[in-house]
Amino acid sequence: MVRVDYNVPQNEQLQVTSTTRIKRTVETVNKITNDGGIAILMSHLGRPKGEVNDNFSLKHIVDAVCETLGKQVIFLGDVLDADVEAKIAQLQAGDVGLLENLRFHKGEEKGDVEFAKAIAKLGDIYVNDAFGAAHREHASTATIAKLFPEKAYAGYLLYSEVQSLKKVLVEKKSPFTAIIGGAKVSTKINILKNLLEKVDNLIIGGGMSYTFAAALGFSHGNSLFEEEMVPVAKEILEKAETKGIHIYLPVDNLCADKFAEDAHSMFTIDQNIPDGWLGMDVGIRTIELFKEVILSSKTILWNGPVGVFEMEKFEIGTRVVAEAIVESTKNGAYSLVGGGDSIAALSKFGLSKEVSYISTGGGAMLEYLEGIELPGIKALEEN
Ligand code: AMP
Repeated sequence: MVRVDYNVPQNEQLQVTSTTRIKRTVETVNKITNDGGIAILMSHLGRPKGEVNDNFSLKHIVDAVCETLGKQVIFLGDVLDADVEAKIAQLQAGDVGLLENLRFHKGEEKGDVEFAKAIAKLGDIYVNDAFGAAHREHASTATIAKLFPEKAYAGYLLYSEVQSLKKVLVEKKSPFTAIIGGAKVSTKINILKNLLEKVDNLIIGGGMSYTFAAALGFSHGNSLFEEEMVPVAKEILEKAETKGIHIYLPVDNLCADKFAEDAHSMFTIDQNIPDGWLGMDVGIRTIELFKEVILSSKTILWNGPVGVFEMEKFEIGTRVVAEAIVESTKNGAYSLVGGGDSIAALSKFGLSKEVSYISTGGGAMLEYLEGIELPGIKALEEN
């Protein structure tokens, strides 16, 4: 029984638009089938909220799974169907089956023991390869592991994800630089706090940097800004100073008169953003500063773009950050990139293969970085 995270993006016709998450499980599935086992894959997809909903059926992704794994995959239907055991009994060594969306049942997200038992009775060994769901205490991630004493394992993907995080947070080589960007301070506050215990340098960019700038007394104009986060930003800046950690904030900005590709834009001379303007990207001096810090680092963690990189006019800061990480990696640094937008940025710039590791788990990675013990991993370790 292999818990995978095939919560893949789909278009309106429900076709899979990125098979990355499937690709990353190939090694685990091949290991099982090549060794003569039968791999029964199970996953969630979207948020059907405990009800059967055809739009979220895993049958729509079967073709993409077959193509990506390079073998036939038998759709087994729902885990509670009366004939599911009979279907599984028909499978031969080396076969791969796929169960229906586990979140069609309320018991999945509740971590229900009875639901976990219903899944567990379908197989002999449990493998968790769903790093992207490891932060959830669900029936198929945490509860089920306890039902396979001494027979619950981490798949290759989950294992490599944890190893890469440990490489950055535990075995890190100095200088360790974290680049944290994105829209809001509020969603990354606990990561910033936890990283203060680990890093040498903290680069803060993107929409969240204007709240920090405001905490230092600079004006933010119409930029993204979270007033209630100013005291927390101050606290982080003060703590960093006491600990001797360097925080690098933008020293100049590229701003626009509206949030649009066709906006008028201008560079500011310093951190201040004039009224009527909004910060969209970092400025030229900041780019040079961030680049220098990244190039002198031996361990790099990147989560969140430093500008509105989706718009070409405001992508330069994020592009240079990505390029500097790549260059540093070539020079021997270890680089871990996570979060949907940073991964999308790497892909946009054609640099996805040039960093040390790309995490597949958005929320799970963030919680790990916050210092939270992930229930899916804890359950495996206890078994
Ligand atoms: P997050 O999900 O918090 O990592 O935020 C990612 C989003 O932050 C991306 O879609 C970026 O376009 C956005 N972002 C980065 N810099 C800015 C900025 N200066 N103003 C508004 N949004 C930004």
